[in-house]
Amino acid sequence: MVGAIRRLFHGSNRAIDPVCGMEVDTGNPPGGSYEHEGTTYYFCGRGCRLEFEEDPKGYLSGEKKMEM
Ligand SMILES: [Zn+2]
Repeated sequence: MVGAIRRLFHGSNRAIDPVCGMEVDTGNPPGGSYEHEGTTYYFCGRGCRLEFEEDPKGYLSGEKKMEM
């Protein structure tokens, strides 16, 4: 199940960190991954993952964005 969803970028195993917008290698995501409503998201760092876990809907809707 995991990893089948986010293949949009370059047709390879890369995904976009929904918190900061960075590209992340889904095979070895530095910040780990998190499943939300059937979709797995990958993160550039632990901080981003923790942020996302707090409010996944906020980030997915674009209401919330972390300023880099
Ligand atoms: Zn990030």
